[in-house]
Amino acid sequence: MQIEFAKKKLYLEDDDSLSDLPEKAERLFEHQLNNWKLASDGYRSLTSVQVKQFEFDNFTIEAHFNPGRIISSSAKVDAKSIEARPCFLCIDNLPVEQKAVKIINDYFLLVNPFPIFSKHFTIPSVNHFPQAIENEIGNMLIISSMLGKDNSVFYNGPRCGASAPDHIHFQAGNFGFMKIDEEYKDILNTYGRIIYEDDEQVTTAITGCLRNFISIESNNISKITAEFKRIYNVLNKDQSNFEPMMNIISSYNDNWRLLVFPRSRHRPSYFFEEGENKLLISPAAVDLGGVFIFPREEDFNKITKELIIDIFRQVTLSDDEFKYLSDKLNNR
Ligand SMILES: [Zn+2]
Repeated sequence: MQIEFAKKKLYLEDDDSLSDLPEKAERLFEHQLNNWKLASDGYRSLTSVQVKQFEFDNFTIEAHFNPGRIISSSAKVDAKSIEARPCFLCIDNLPVEQKAVKIINDYFLLVNPFPIFSKHFTIPSVNHFPQAIENEIGNMLIISSMLGKDNSVFYNGPRCGASAPDHIHFQAGNFGFMKIDEEYKDILNTYGRIIYEDDEQVTTAITGCLRNFISIESNNISKITAEFKRIYNVLNKDQSNFEPMMNIISSYNDNWRLLVFPRSRHRPSYFFEEGENKLLISPAAVDLGGVFIFPREEDFNKITKELIIDIFRQVTLSDDEFKYLSDKLNNR
């Protein structure tokens, strides 16, 4: 009975059609702010977020002190801890106040009550299965095009910042919040090298801007999916049981723009330090997108350009590892 009740109450609107997703998301956001205290408190707290900017050559990194993010940044994501807690993305465990908008292929959109963005959505599957991108990249791209040009959609790998590695989900936030959204063209012009190009697709390797990454731009979803799988397979060269570590940011404005940030580590050494040297930072897509999130003020106060450089160096692919990837993608 409980399950039926939760499902019946989940969707805000009865309209099942998939049109006008951005408008429906907007209505959901308004509804949740007016009817769910946790969410309205969360978004109100954003007004007191402190921001610092660090200028590099043709790009910017911001640091945000956002105390509301403590749960996510310090989340224990080892198998034992995950097993011991109820999954907070499963429909049956959602707070009664939480409503949703239906999206394609069993995905639904929720307002994230612990926001980083001024509009921050979580997009889980209705099914509880592990965070794994290989077979879901197409869905991510479709969701990105449906949410349109005003949203960036992102994915955090199970060992790269996802606080629910046991339940497949994406997140979305307003386009332009992550520095890379608007600085992309400058970064590409300064640091990009085209490694594949045809009439419908451009793949670029970006290196030298603290975090090495690949961008794929295309209006053809099959081609962009195939190119992503090439990247995935090169990164998965050891055929390990674990997904290759990565964060992904997708945006859509007539074309898709998929940014793939391969990772070498989950958290930098500073995360595990004690006392003075500790920095509670757990880099995920938003950090790779140019906004470092600090839930503790003491860490925000300590952050410097040098630390930003070192954190990126520790958690992303080295130039040699990245060259291996871009060479493989270049040779086809
Ligand atoms: Zn779940």
